[in-house]
Order: sequence, then C-alpha cells, then structure tokens
Amino acid sequence: MVKLVKEKTEVYPLNKIDDICTHIERCGRTCYKSENKITEETALPFISGILKSGHESVIEHANVIFSMPNTAHNSRIFTMRDIRGLYCSLEKDPLINQEVIVVSGNMRSFRDVARQYNIHDFLLKIGIPTFYIADNSSLFFSDLKIEGVQQSRFSELHNYVTTHSICDLGAYKDITRHRLASFSIESTRYCNYSKGKFGGELAVLEPCNIEKDSEMYYIWFDAINEIEKHYMKMAELGAKADQLRMILPHSTKADMIMTANVTEWKHIFSLRCHTAAHPSVRRIMKLILAECCQIWPNFFDEQKKEFLAA
Ligand SMILES: Cc1cc2nc3c(=O)[nH]c(=O)nc-3n(C[C@H](O)[C@H](O)[C@H](O)COP(=O)(O)OP(=O)(O)OC[C@H]3O[C@@H](n4cnc5c(N)ncnc54)[C@H](O)[C@@H]3O)c2cc1C
Repeated sequence: MVKLVKEKTEVYPLNKIDDICTHIERCGRTCYKSENKITEETALPFISGILKSGHESVIEHANVIFSMPNTAHNSRIFTMRDIRGLYCSLEKDPLINQEVIVVSGNMRSFRDVARQYNIHDFLLKIGIPTFYIADNSSLFFSDLKIEGVQQSRFSELHNYVTTHSICDLGAYKDITRHRLASFSIESTRYCNYSKGKFGGELAVLEPCNIEKDSEMYYIWFDAINEIEKHYMKMAELGAKADQLRMILPHSTKADMIMTANVTEWKHIFSLRCHTAAHPSVRRIMKLILAECCQIWPNFFDEQKKEFLAA
C-alpha cells in the first residue's frame, strides 16, 4: 500500500563562508537521496564532481553578499546585467552612513562573472579553490568586502533563504516555473520506488482539496494504490526508473530545495499564496511564508497579514 506523507518545510541555514560547501552538499544530496553518504570529508569531492559533470545549478543554493565603495571604477559591475543570479544596487550603508555598491549572487553567478569578464574577485574573496576558474588572477574591484552569507543588513534584494520542502509533484511543477529562484529536486528519473531505499512503496501526499473519508477520497486512494501495483509489476519486468516514472501521479511526493532572495520570494508568495493558486501549492507556500516571517518579520509583514491571518 502507498505511504501517505505530509507536506512540510524547513529552512536550510547557511551563516558562514566556511559552511558553503557543506550547505551545497546537503542541498545536492537531497535530490540524489544520498544524505546518508555525508561525512566530514565528502563536501569538496561532491562539489568537484558536480562541477565536472556541469550540474552547476546545485551551487546556486549558496549566496554571498559584498559591498564596495561607490567609485567610477567599481561601477563597472552595473554593466554585468547578463549574469543571471547576480544583483547589484546602490544603497546607503547604515553602519557608515554612506552610499555603497552592494553586490550579491550565488556561487554559480560568481563563476559566470569570472568566465564571462575574467573578473575573479568574488571567488578569490570567498577563497574556496574548488570553485576557482583561474588560480592566479589579480583583483579588479577596489576595497571589495564580504558582508554576509545568505543574509545581510542591506535591502531585500540582498537577503536569501534556502528551504527544503516536501510537497506533491503537482505543486513542484507549478513552483519551478519561477525563473529567478534556484531549485534542486529529487529526480523521478533516478528514483526507483521499488528499491529498498524507498521502502518498496510509493510515497504520496494526501490531496488537500478532497475531503478525507469522503467517497471521492476513497476513489483517489484506490486509484493511487492501483498505480503502485502496476509500478511494482513493471519494476519486476525490469523497467528502469526512466520508464517507471511514466505512470507516477501528481500526488507523488517530491523533495524540493529552493533558494531565492526576498524580492523573488515576495513575488512568488503574492501569486502562490493567493486563492487563485492550486490548493496544494498554496499550502506549501504558506508554510514557507511562515518560515520567512520568522527570519524577516519586517520584509514579510504585509504578506503575513494578507495570507497568514487566521
Ligand atoms: C493562478 C495561476 C495560474 C497559472 N496558469 C498557468 C497556465 O495555465 N499555463 C502556464 O503555462 N502557466 C501558468 N501559470 C504560471 C505563470 O504563467 C508563470 O509562469 C509563473 O507564475 C511564474 O511567474 P512569473 O513569470 O511572474 O515570475 P518569475 O519566473 O518568478 O520571475 C519573476 C519576475 O522576473 C521577470 N522575468 C523573469 N524572467 C523573465 C523573462 N524571460 N522575460 C521578462 N521578464 C522576466 C518578470 O518581471 C517576473 O515577474 C499560472 C500561474 C498562476 C499563479
């Protein structure tokens, strides 16, 4: 019989530069369902492997925030608009009461700056050689400083959060349409639910828009169990995960790692916590909004009132 699981969400915190690699490994291994392989030594080989294979979206889950003086030379950063995941703004720094250039992005965007513009400053300041594009390059910007990892005292553009959520495939399909966020998903192409690692059963989320114990609920439940029987029969005949996934329903459990800055999260909540969104999307998004309200009550005050008020 299928396993019924509940949607849930948790923040994957990242507070210091030294934890960038373990954070990325944690995010990446969630999609491969290989969290049990994590030890103190596995992060760097894991990252080298994903960089070699070109699966760079996993390194988008670590963000660093920088500042530098507002000089004509440093303003060159504003011409690098083609780098996805890189954000720059001119902001007043409350600590020194002066305007500074604030730049933030993820590890992939800093590698793209190095590849595209031969500017290695961000990678060199972060100082983890595994990510370097070139080893002995000189600095381009002057007085570039690291201001934070994932969170900073600057605007919502330069504050990020990574969440791990359990939702259904239908919700994940809708949520991954948001192009300015970064995602890592447990792949249905590689997960074979007939294997021991998955307990030899399909994991599904109960539909939140079908009343529990109603006639319709039991029809859904029978249908899901029939699918599981056919899935296991196909597996016995030697079907691979790639073939088996063709019969997976929208209710199938999905593990989703998602990272975005507050500006994008606010945009996503405005669309996905709204009554126009699918109920399963709304449910998971409200859980994530509640987590964001804990971290940044000020940024999300309006949305808390709009979407979370009883
Ligand atoms: C109620 C509802 C019903 C929906 N129904 C359907 C449907 O029937 N069919 C369907 O295909 N989709 C549907 N969608 C998905 C929807 O069309 C969007 O793809 C999804 O919501 C992503 O939102 P977005 O494009 O506003 O923003 P994001 O991808 O989150 O991007 C954020 C912002 O960045 C900017 N941006 C990002 N990329 C670009 C770009 N390439 N060019 C210009 N600006 C860009 C825009 O300003 C955008 O608002 C639905 C969404 C909702 C909420």
